[in-house]
Amino acid sequence: MSKSSRIISWRLFVLLGMLALVTVIFLRTTKVCDDPISYRIGKVDERFGITREEFAIAVNMAAAMWGKPLAREIFREDAKGNSVVEINLVYDYRQEATDKLKKLNYNIDKTKNSYEDLKSSFQNLKSEYEQKKTILDGEFNSYNLRINIFNKDVEYWNRREGVAENIRRRLEKEKDELGSLRADLQNKQDDLKRLAETINSMVIVINEIATNINLDLVNYQNTGEALGREFCEGFYEYKNGKQSITIYQFDNDYRLVRVLAHEFGHALRLNHSADPKAVMYRLIQSDTIELSPDDIAAVKARCGS
Ligand SMILES: [Zn+2]
Repeated sequence: MSKSSRIISWRLFVLLGMLALVTVIFLRTTKVCDDPISYRIGKVDERFGITREEFAIAVNMAAAMWGKPLAREIFREDAKGNSVVEINLVYDYRQEATDKLKKLNYNIDKTKNSYEDLKSSFQNLKSEYEQKKTILDGEFNSYNLRINIFNKDVEYWNRREGVAENIRRRLEKEKDELGSLRADLQNKQDDLKRLAETINSMVIVINEIATNINLDLVNYQNTGEALGREFCEGFYEYKNGKQSITIYQFDNDYRLVRVLAHEFGHALRLNHSADPKAVMYRLIQSDTIELSPDDIAAVKARCGS
């Protein structure tokens, strides 16, 4: 092949490639809601305390929100349709943390007040933990000291032939006392562990609220990887030709519908809106399950007749 024909075939190759890319983009942007987009319910974790049927109702409500302004179906529940969006409800550490604190009667909502309350409770619990830990460490030290002395004592008397009755009784008594001391320390340690778990849950929830309302994150060494992950209630993914929506957390039924509607919006290839009232706003701050004028304009621009 000559040099010039090599350049021509190379250019042709690039041109064809670009054409293919343009076609794909064209198909993806224009065909996205010509036909209703199919979805199906995937995994529903029972720990949310919501049945599969109840979850399906929330999903259907969220799907219907987008069709309403156009008076036609944009999404359709159809397990066998083409390019089905699978919708999953996955329980994770954030929901676990929220549930744990709710059981302890903490007020959790995504407001600054709740953030301040939790943060002061966190500071109190943290110093309570540190105090109790110091005391317990000391108690364990004296317990260990006492048990070492006892063991040496037993060893000493074992080497001797015949132990006087009063010595034997003293050793028995010490053994019993050490046994109940051990049980007592074990209880205290369990309590301390529960306190640490509450503190860890608190840090997760505080940071979740902080991320949502742009406040300072709390740094606490025992939280592990939880701190490093950014909070998101839901997630839309288009990967290897498969679409899915995963919901990780919701505070109430309205929020569930709203977060589902938000992710459905991403399935329509809608971007985030700058309007805090919009379903497509990047944070889920409101309980309304109506599209905002901004959302309506976006869906009309995408799918309008
Ligand atoms: Zn989003």
